[in-house]
Amino acid sequence: MALLDIINLKTYFPSADGLVKAVDAVDLRIENGERLGLIGETGCGKTVLGMSIIRLLSSSTRIQGQIIYKGRDLLGLTEDEMRLLRGGEIAMILQNPTTSLNPVLKVGDQIAEVIRLHGGLDKKAAKAKAVEMLAATMIPNPLMRADQYPHELSGGMKERVMIAMGLAGQPSFVIADEPTRGLDARTKAEIVKLIRDMTAGRSMLMITHDLKAAGEACDRIAVMYAGELLEIASAELILSDPCHPYTQGFVHSLPSRGLQPIPGSSPSLIDPPSGCRFHPRCPRSMDICQREHPPMIRLHKGDFVRCFLCT
Ligand code: SF4
Repeated sequence: MALLDIINLKTYFPSADGLVKAVDAVDLRIENGERLGLIGETGCGKTVLGMSIIRLLSSSTRIQGQIIYKGRDLLGLTEDEMRLLRGGEIAMILQNPTTSLNPVLKVGDQIAEVIRLHGGLDKKAAKAKAVEMLAATMIPNPLMRADQYPHELSGGMKERVMIAMGLAGQPSFVIADEPTRGLDARTKAEIVKLIRDMTAGRSMLMITHDLKAAGEACDRIAVMYAGELLEIASAELILSDPCHPYTQGFVHSLPSRGLQPIPGSSPSLIDPPSGCRFHPRCPRSMDICQREHPPMIRLHKGDFVRCFLCT
């Protein structure tokens, strides 16, 4: 049995301009101990997919489908049952530490609070454990850093605090949302290595627009575009020989592969293009692509693609 099995998930938001279909009929499976990267351009729905799993969405959100985690459908749980899972069994490393950390609490106390809630330790033991967690992130002088406020730390240090906080409840499954956003190249490489090391033996969904980071930290990669998944394969295959033209464009936009951006911009999630949602930007578009919606086809075990050229 997979650790997480997402079946036909639809997460829609009402807006003044119409229904925003941020996640539109997504099927995705994550095995025990597997680290899966979810990549795509900004606004493609990947963060909403992560938020749907952990059910951190506004009350006006319309959500349908199934999110089966260890045999239980998370969408059928009460808010109290979800609260018990969040931070303990399933944790999220939120993007943007500057806004996610509490500015008036010392970072060590923020980590200790998670440990107290999910580890049952008293205040003193939780604080000591928080320093241990910070030390594991290789933050310089963890004892001193634990006593500092978020504004006293650099961007890279704050990301380390977020990782320590995300893992403080010893979760089985971690959702890391854009953990390398806004970091310089050297810090980014250190954080990717840290995430890979600290999530060893756990399952992870790493949401990122950084294909290189996903390739280094993850076993498999799922590619998302305009609310849909377009390709799922091993990280090695996605980086070396992807089938989908969008994934190929993503690979060619890497600095090491020529830095060629994909022409055009992401479509509206309210009124996406007919047929293949990528057809207005696809260099290999055919007549059928404008008329018919390509289905997600299974190629090999665990590999899927949504393109008429790859069937
Ligand atoms: Fe391009 Fe057509 Fe494939 Fe879509 S289905 S990615 S438009 S070739």
